[in-house]
Order: sequence, then structure tokens, then C-alpha cells
Amino acid sequence: MLGGTGVLKKIVMKFGGTSVATGENIRRVASLIADYVGQGYGVVAVVSALEGATDQLVEAMEQAKRGNKDYVYEFRQKIFGKHLTTAGKAIEDSHIRGEIEQILKTTLDELEKVLVGIIYVGELTPKSKASILSFGERLSAPILWGALRDLELNAQYYTGGEAGIVTDLNFEEANPLMNVTKYQVREKLEPLLEKGVVPVIAGYIAATQDGVITTLGRGGSDYTATIIGAAIAADEVWIWKDVDGLMTTDPKIVPTAKMLPELSFQEATEMAIFGAKAIHPRALEPAMEENIPVRIRNVFNPENQGTLIVKEQKIKHGDAVKAITLIKDVALVNVSGTGMVGTPGTAAKVFDVLGKHNVNILMISQSVSEANISFITRRNLLETTVNALEIAFLGGRLIHEVTAEDDVCVVAVVGAGMKGTPGVASKVFTAVAQRGINVRMIAQGSSELNISFVVKEKDGEEAVRALHEEFKLDKI
Ligand code: ADP
Ligand code: ASP
Ligand code: MG
Repeated sequence: MLGGTGVLKKIVMKFGGTSVATGENIRRVASLIADYVGQGYGVVAVVSALEGATDQLVEAMEQAKRGNKDYVYEFRQKIFGKHLTTAGKAIEDSHIRGEIEQILKTTLDELEKVLVGIIYVGELTPKSKASILSFGERLSAPILWGALRDLELNAQYYTGGEAGIVTDLNFEEANPLMNVTKYQVREKLEPLLEKGVVPVIAGYIAATQDGVITTLGRGGSDYTATIIGAAIAADEVWIWKDVDGLMTTDPKIVPTAKMLPELSFQEATEMAIFGAKAIHPRALEPAMEENIPVRIRNVFNPENQGTLIVKEQKIKHGDAVKAITLIKDVALVNVSGTGMVGTPGTAAKVFDVLGKHNVNILMISQSVSEANISFITRRNLLETTVNALEIAFLGGRLIHEVTAEDDVCVVAVVGAGMKGTPGVASKVFTAVAQRGINVRMIAQGSSELNISFVVKEKDGEEAVRALHEEFKLDKI
């Protein structure tokens, strides 16, 4: 017996969008949970929105902002139909199904009201966006809850906020206030696990101290899972996906990509930050702090043990490079002006302006002449970035021009063994050059865990394939 809860092991299991894409998938997930509960595990289930639902909510809120009433009403019908069909297939017992259908209807009525409100005011605020984006998980989690009860498991459904996750007011990419969160989540969930109840938590969403809904950033259900794992001192957090684990690269780009059986928190974080979509960039933080192993596993192949992410990295000779990643939704911004030459503090001023506008920088480079600074930011922040810089600097002496390119992407080569291994960079750039790909900008993280560079978006996948081949990652 571990953790004093009377269960064999406490595992937080997160199920992603594809794992719960259909009613059949939800049944599969429910019986997987039932299996582990049957073996004596204490399971907390964290669930994402049905595949594509969050993207559809993004589109619906944009249409609402533009005043497109027809779109909003049609959308409501479509999303209701989709969830009803899913619930219909996931839950056999007509009584339970009826109860869940009622929850879906009430929740969608609320969504419709929010969207209609947006149509009238013609404006989206971070707060209203988070509210709308929360509905994907608020609709999917009750269905899994119903499916578990259908299998005669004792289960309870909560939103992230109800489970005790409290965040700051950064509504779309909120930061959990870990101390209070840990306390509240533990108080809420421990007694349930004691009683053999499976808590089903809507991932991705949380709440401010006043109870207003926030979200943890796109892909944030992974983060929900590790926050909860840290709070209840879980034995492991399992992130169930539609891939066997973290791979040497996105298998959608290189079908021969191999699964990495073990990675350090640092390496996996580096991969996540640099675009391995399989895990949310911040999700490993809470697990790392509490030293809770995280496992990425395949819901469609549960025999496979997946990728285990742990504290101690085992660097084996010859595996300097472990993975190649690609970030597509970025833009390159170039700030230039002869006034910058030899003027101390220019970079600080630029980044101060960006910081004040909540613009995160992924990569920076400054030319030797000092007449320009280039950096990479998320594409959806490009307008904010350029506007902020123009307002702050144009007309002044320091900076004369701000230009941007939005058709670029970042390719990163990741691996702890690169540290102190000479020649990796030259191999990288030779391989890319041999394919005739032009490199626009280069950066090496000071951690030496990655080398990243920028190419035109059309060349990104080809660069990934070139490097996967060069480092023989399909042979590991
Ligand atoms: P979920 O809905 O379960 O959160 P995501 O779609 O967010 O799943 O992430 C899983 C997808 O990430 C995979 O289908 C795969 O195409 C993609 N992916 C990108 N890079 C990697 C990688 N290095 N390893 C595994 N999957 C990756
Ligand atoms: N549903 C959210 C998204 O699509 C969160 C998640 O899937 O983890 O971004
Ligand atoms: Mg995801």
C-alpha cells in the first residue's frame, strides 16, 4: 500500500483528443480505466475535448466576433449533434445517458449565450475567449463520466476549477498558483481515491481565485494531469495518446520515426518547447519538481510501455542527437537601425516592450554589426508584436525599421548528449545545405540540449527528414 490512500498505486491518466474522439474510443478508455481500478490502482482521469472541438470553438468565436449569427446557430446544432452521437455510443444505460444528455444540453445553452453575447458586443477579450474555449472539455468530460458509470465504476465529474486548480488572471495561458492548488486538489481528490471513486476532471481549464474560468494554453490537458499528479503525489502520470510515446520526430512527417523508451525531464521539455506536439511545453514542470515519472502511452496499443520521462538521464555513447522537432506557427521579426550600433541596452529595451505585451520569444539572434536584432515569436502574436514595437520605437533615433516574415518555421535538433560533443552543428547544417535549404537564422540554447534554426515554412518538413536520416534516428 502506497501513499496512505489504501490503493496499490496512484496514477493520473490523461486522455487526449484522439483518445476520446468517438463514442467507441470513449468506451475503450473507460474499460482501460476499469481494468486498472480492478487491479487495485487509484486512478484520476483527466480528459481533453473531443478531437477538433477546441479548434471549432476558436472558429466559432471568431465568427461570433464578426457578427455571423447563422454560423453560431449552425455551430451549436453541429456540436450538439456530435456530442449526442458520441454519448449515445459511449453509454449504454439509458438512464445514465439521459442524465448526460441533459448536462450536454444545459452546457450548450450556456455556450450559446456566451457566443450571442460576443455577437452583440463584437469583441473578444482574453476572459471571454477562455470562457468559450473551456466548453470542449466541459462537454467531453461528462461523457467519459457517464461511460465509467455505465461500467459500474464509482466516478465523479469535476471541471479543473472544481477540482481545485487555481490560476492567475492570464486567462488564455494561465499560470497555476501551485501552493493553494496543491492543497485544494489534495483535499478534494484524496478522500475520493480512498473510497475507490474515480475522479473525472475536465482538462485544460481552471479558475481564478474568484472562480472565473481560465485555460492553461492550447494542449493544456497534459498540464492539468501533471498539476494533479504533483498535488496528490501520484506514483506516475500517464499521458495516453494516439502514438506509442515520444518519437524521434513527428511520425506524420517521418513514418519510420522510432519511439524513445526513456528520456530525461530536461530533454522531453526541450522537445516539447521546440514543437514535439505530443506534450504541452509546461506540463513537465510540476512532475519534475515533485520527481513524479511521466509516461506517454498509446491508447490504441496499451501493451506498449511507452516513453518514460524521468529525472536521471542515461546518456549512452553515440546518441548525441535524440530527436528532431518542428514548430510551424511562428514568425520572424527583424528590428534594425544604425542607431542601435554601440548603444548599450538596445536589446533590453526591445525585450522590455515585448514583455509588457506578454510576447514570448522563442529564439533571438543579433548580427555582429549590431545593426539588427532578429527574433522568433508565435505567429498569432505577430500583429501585437509589430504594433508594440512600432509604437514604442518608430520616430525615435534607435530603431528605424521593423519587418516581419510569417512564412517561416523552426527546426530543432534535441539531445542531452550533444553537450560537449563537437561536430554536431556542422553535421546539421551540411545535411540541410545538401538539400538546397536556406537557413535564415540559427541559435544554440545555452543548455546545449538543442540546436535550432529557422527555414522557410515550405522547407521545414524536408529539413526534418534530412536530419532524421543524417543522424540515423530510424536505426536507434
Ligand atoms: P492529444 O490530443 O492526445 O493531446 P496531440 O495531437 O496533441 O495529442 O499530440 C499527439 C500528436 O503529436 C501525434 O499524433 C504526433 O503526430 C504529434 N507529434 C509531433 N511530434 C511528435 C514526437 N516527437 N513524438 C510523438 N508525437 C509527435
Ligand atoms: N482541448 C485543448 C486543446 O485542443 C486542450 C488539450 O487538448 O489538451 O488545445
Ligand atoms: Mg495535445
